[in-house]
Amino acid sequence: MNAHPLYPRVFQPLDLGFMTLPNRILMGSMHTGLEEEKGGMDKLARFYAERAAGEAGLLVTGGIAPNRAGVVAWGGSRMSSHRHASHHRVIPEAVHAEGGKIVMQILHAGRYAYTPFCVAPSALKAPIGRFKPRALSARGVERTIRDFVNSAVLAREAGYDGVEVMGSEGYLINQFLAAETNLRTDQWGGDFERRCRFPEAILSRMREAVGKDFLIMYRLSMLDLVAGGSNWEEIERLAQRVEHAGANIINTGIGWHEARIPTIATMVPRGGFRFVTKKLMGAVNVPLITTNRFNDPATCEEALAEGCADMISMARPFLADPHLVKKARLSRAQDINTCIGCNQACLDHVFKQKVSSCLVNPRACHEGNFPAVPRPEASQREAERGGMAGKQLAGRRIAVVGGGPAGMSAALERARLGADVVLIERQAELGGQFLLAQRIPGKFEFNETIRYFQTQLAHLGVDVRLGTVATTEDVAGFDEVVMATGVRPRSLDIPGSARPEVVSYVDVLNGTVQVGTRIAIVGAGGIGFDVADFLTHDADDAGFMASWGVDTSLESRGGLAAAQRTASQREVHMYQRRPGKMGKGLGKTTGWIHRNTLKQRGVKQWSGVTYDRVDDQGFHVTLEDGTSHVQAVDQVVVCAGQVSFVPSDLSHPNLTIIGGAKDAKGLDAQRAILEGMVPKG
Ligand code: NAP
Ligand code: SF4
Repeated sequence: MNAHPLYPRVFQPLDLGFMTLPNRILMGSMHTGLEEEKGGMDKLARFYAERAAGEAGLLVTGGIAPNRAGVVAWGGSRMSSHRHASHHRVIPEAVHAEGGKIVMQILHAGRYAYTPFCVAPSALKAPIGRFKPRALSARGVERTIRDFVNSAVLAREAGYDGVEVMGSEGYLINQFLAAETNLRTDQWGGDFERRCRFPEAILSRMREAVGKDFLIMYRLSMLDLVAGGSNWEEIERLAQRVEHAGANIINTGIGWHEARIPTIATMVPRGGFRFVTKKLMGAVNVPLITTNRFNDPATCEEALAEGCADMISMARPFLADPHLVKKARLSRAQDINTCIGCNQACLDHVFKQKVSSCLVNPRACHEGNFPAVPRPEASQREAERGGMAGKQLAGRRIAVVGGGPAGMSAALERARLGADVVLIERQAELGGQFLLAQRIPGKFEFNETIRYFQTQLAHLGVDVRLGTVATTEDVAGFDEVVMATGVRPRSLDIPGSARPEVVSYVDVLNGTVQVGTRIAIVGAGGIGFDVADFLTHDADDAGFMASWGVDTSLESRGGLAAAQRTASQREVHMYQRRPGKMGKGLGKTTGWIHRNTLKQRGVKQWSGVTYDRVDDQGFHVTLEDGTSHVQAVDQVVVCAGQVSFVPSDLSHPNLTIIGGAKDAKGLDAQRAILEGMVPKG
């Protein structure tokens, strides 16, 4: 077979002896929330089948507990009976029908379980846990090992090609491995050799029970990022024992959930943790998988070429684009809808016990709610049958006004349904609020979303008119007009707010104002935090790993180093009228990163204030305790939310308003893109 012209290593098959994988891309484990939903198995089967059709080399399911104590949350999914196995059967069947392979992840949450029945090696509550776990008795440990083995046997019965044993991210197995969380004095605790016995016993007994031709993958925590975590010598010894006990592949785990270092958020450099897996290459004979913040085929190819791993795992990118591997194989990377690492619709949903989805692809996990997008290289017949609901808008002329996230989404979806679409945008570029977002440090991935929409709109022949203000005459001949004119920044209305030093966040991010060294930020929502980050980024000149305290030499225990953080050269003050902690409304899984970053950079926060005036002395506020305070500033940057913008002089008898133009309150990109979509039927 000829090597792939762009990604030769990615598309090199991997021979495991009893099984050959067609390429080096693993779709990593993700909990979707469908696991626990009524009728969720059929939806999951459709979800995984679509990713198998998209040519993922191997898929891993979300974590499934081996017993009741191991579920992550109340009612969590288990594989502990023949009934469970028969429920799962639709998943491997659907994946196999698309020519794919899938393994089931077995995850015991240990002390991370959000149930009062949680267990752990020792009765130590996790910093992020809700309940103090019960320490497993020696019989309880034996029972748990049996449950892991039984789960693998049942997974085989259900038709899975193998299992992944979750040994990382601070879950039960990790809790046995670390001295900090395993205080046992019986045969399952003590020195490192003894603490390794738990995963070793699981794997060796599992291998004996499932036979040789069933894939056992082990997710090994190679960088704990917690105090008292493993050191490199222990990791290497564990990997060798895991191999010896019967694992066919070792996957990489980076960071316990309680670690206070970002490991997958957008600011983590693409493939930034690959150096960790690389250090283990050659120490074992089984293939190694590297992971975290891979979202494009070029970075995967680069990591393989550098000898960092034998395979690459990506999880969230398969929510953003189920067909990303196939598009790479067809050398159509420009058509990939790239995961921007925001966590907003995936992990944040899971933590709120909602079904997960994707900000840039609302179809993810909701495949049944929207007309399917034809698969790359689909035949005309297949495209029409399985594609966009038989082109239900064919023959209609639709004008979309506004080229931000909502407008781009609306234009694309309507064009996919066969409409003849014109997209009219006032600015010289498409992107709207995303053009500003991509200027925030660590949010550059937003430009990928703009690129994705641009390429798709061009493929579908959408007539994009830039630098054009739409008038009633312009849209008169259309059957329908979609108004996606977005938002305008809310202005500050206090004495002195017309002074030149009072500016909007738009001017700051656009670079139209020269920002000084003493800044007051009015408003501490998502944009206030982003602007504070933008203005204080000079503090992070040490680079991501050094500034967050990751020991890239991997010599220290847990992989921790002293964080090299300095305060910013700018003096930045953030204000909000609401009393209490700032940033409460930020993303569930990323808010702590933003709060921590600004604190380290010395941004001062003032809550519960009243804004009084701006004058020659500076910005005057009344503090929560009633005292007056004046801050000498060069600029007051207003980040006080937005108001809807709908041009009053534009009308049409068939007008639909979406996105921020419809309702600016609580608007985010997730809602904007979703409102551009056309539901099925
Ligand atoms: P926002 O999150 O609603 O925050 C608006 C801020 O302005 C609040 O701090 C509010 O605090 C203040 N404010 C509201 N009315 C005001 C007034 N009349 N005068 C002075 N201050 C006022 O809005 P945003 O920051 O503009 O963000 C817009 C949307 O984008 C939000 O939905 C946000 O979640 C999303 N976004 C998310 C992220 C992210 O990282 N996930 C990043 C950027 C934006 P007080 O009323 O207490 O003063
Ligand atoms: Fe990626 Fe954001 Fe989509 Fe999650 S919601 S898959 S992080 S783009």
